[in-house]
Amino acid sequence: MNSDDEQRQISPAHLERDDPSPSAVPRRAQLGDQTPRAFQDASRELSGSRLPYTFEGLERDGIDRRDDGALAAALNDPRAEILPVWRRRVLMSDDGESLLQWPKEQLTDKDTVVFLGTKDGVPYFAADVSSQQTTDGEAPDVAGPARGSFIDPWMTGPNLDPFRVGVGAYGRHLLAWHRSHQYCGRCGSQTKLSKAGLERRCTSEPCSDYLFPRINPATIMLVQDPSGEKCVMARNHNFPPTIHSVLAGYVDAGETLEQTVVREVEEEVGLSVTKVRYAASQPWAFSNSLMIGFFAWAEDTTLNVNLDELEKADWYSREQINDLRGSEDFRLPRKDSIARFLIETWLTSTPETL
Ligand SMILES: [Zn+2]
Repeated sequence: MNSDDEQRQISPAHLERDDPSPSAVPRRAQLGDQTPRAFQDASRELSGSRLPYTFEGLERDGIDRRDDGALAAALNDPRAEILPVWRRRVLMSDDGESLLQWPKEQLTDKDTVVFLGTKDGVPYFAADVSSQQTTDGEAPDVAGPARGSFIDPWMTGPNLDPFRVGVGAYGRHLLAWHRSHQYCGRCGSQTKLSKAGLERRCTSEPCSDYLFPRINPATIMLVQDPSGEKCVMARNHNFPPTIHSVLAGYVDAGETLEQTVVREVEEEVGLSVTKVRYAASQPWAFSNSLMIGFFAWAEDTTLNVNLDELEKADWYSREQINDLRGSEDFRLPRKDSIARFLIETWLTSTPETL
């Protein structure tokens, strides 16, 4: 068996296997007791609604993805919603209140169409209509009663219906991946869309490799002092003006999520985290990421801020954040983000010591 064959054996079935090898066991000894006992209110609820972009209610396999006839019938269903994507932008109504559909009759053979799922019997699709852009490279013309403009959903996400914008962000993520994976990284042959957009497959018979959409896992963590009374809020150099948020960082190859939290906190503010607790996760399609949120506790309080990564970072009590929030110099992250969810949950929680 060569290494490529081993690689091909890594399938969802493999990942579900109960692997007793030591490498599969998290390094709990370094992080102490991980038994959940506080922040029981850290559910997926945020300000009365579920965390945005989590597509609650979308049945991804609502139609058999291998049944071309059923998929074609669903696309022709008058209730079908086809969300157009052009250059990573979605079609927004002129009043900025909703995402618009693309008329079925305006799809061409050159448009990549992916099936996203069904909800309440309504099939949802996303279509890359880039082939229909004008000769000047401008956005495709939007005909019919639906007047709107192509915009980056990142700009307006918080203002829209969470389910619909979530589906739009999901479609955008998938279609961007399809555009950039037209060729097999293993043998160089062309690839083709498979399973109605959930994967691609190499067209070369001897290779027939599978390609799956790339997802970048990232941890995001609210770090507390040993008393649980204060947390670290920071400003990244890339943040919009006055936004203060919690720390975050991408998972390196070979790391557990807990190890990423420990490493990132040490790198960014010089604190030693000794307890980590999972809170929630959120797909963040704007950077093809899966954000995995944690509450963390540091055993020390002396900050050593890495100014290459951060503009500043400091400790804040619940009272300080509540007094400062919304002021000219201190805004919290956007309300559709898991960062905001972690902060709001912590603000209303009872302090828990290390
Ligand atoms: Zn190939």
